[in-house]
Amino acid sequence: TAARKIDLDALAAEIRGGNRTALAKGITMIESNADHDFQHGQALLQLLLSESGNSIRIGITGVPGAGKSTFIESFGSYLCELGHKVAVLAVDPTSSLTGGSILGDKTRMEKLARNPRAFIRPSPSGGKLGGVHRKTRETMLVCEAAGFDVILVETVGVGQSEVIVRDMVDFFMLLVLTGAGDELQGMKKGIMELADSVIVNKADGANEQAAKKTKEEYNRILHFLQPATSGWQTTALTSSALHDKGISEIWEMISNFSSLTKESGIFEERRRVQTKEWLNDLIIDQLQINFFHHPAIKSLLPKIENEVISGNRPVASGVDELFKAFFEAKK
Ligand code: GDP
Repeated sequence: TAARKIDLDALAAEIRGGNRTALAKGITMIESNADHDFQHGQALLQLLLSESGNSIRIGITGVPGAGKSTFIESFGSYLCELGHKVAVLAVDPTSSLTGGSILGDKTRMEKLARNPRAFIRPSPSGGKLGGVHRKTRETMLVCEAAGFDVILVETVGVGQSEVIVRDMVDFFMLLVLTGAGDELQGMKKGIMELADSVIVNKADGANEQAAKKTKEEYNRILHFLQPATSGWQTTALTSSALHDKGISEIWEMISNFSSLTKESGIFEERRRVQTKEWLNDLIIDQLQINFFHHPAIKSLLPKIENEVISGNRPVASGVDELFKAFFEAKK
């Protein structure tokens, strides 16, 4: 209705103006699982879409204890001092199980949470990882429309969530600890091949020399791996998030990455591919939900399952019958 439309226009205008209460309200709408909120959220995004995209999106992963929240606090505060506006989002693969959110927790980043140039949003909880994915991507767009020009997306390194975050950011960094040889050998090659940078954190005190050695080892190994971004050599650096050391060098590296990939067109190309894949993923999600929740499928599936499991019917033939029933019922 007209009244709703006006509300959304006003909300969009407030978000564009950088009003944090309005921003939080918009994100809550996007994160809601209620159907009418979904419609409103999509209408709001439509209004803000043309102002989104103007940021560098940085993914940060690492095992628990690697120092992600300490790093984000230090790095984020540094960027705010430089005059940037920093939004911190999180993709928490455990939140769908526990219903709570661990990552992006404001109490873990107290200093940054108080900074007027920063905005911290915990991982949306509930629903499957795919749903969290959509919500985080949409939240990112709204934050950009609100003028945030650096988006940090935090996730724990436990398999699927790294791939999900890699697919929504421009630059992806892996935070590791000094552990040298064994750990390096054991680390999955796949994860290192997602990264544009490996940061050896806690390079301070008695650990400083060991951290430098680990960094060199990583650089040696990275040289033989497929880079995550073509035209960019994934590089290892050290940091001490606790003592704000190595932070400016990391930002310098990301700035170099940004100008280089924008120059070559890789930056824009990656974003186009990411959006296309996002569209594909959502279509597949939607198809699955529609298919498996359809009454025709619900009643037919157990029979087909029995036939297939008992070896009385080829699997593909069972699938064929299910799809015929699905499309027949849809007519
Ligand atoms: P997360 O689980 O990856 O978010 O890790 P946290 O940021 O919570 O850090 C885990 C622990 O490591 C905390 O006790 C931090 O104070 C400590 N820590 C984080 N970064 C550094 C660092 O650069 N140097 C040292 N010495 N300790 C650090």
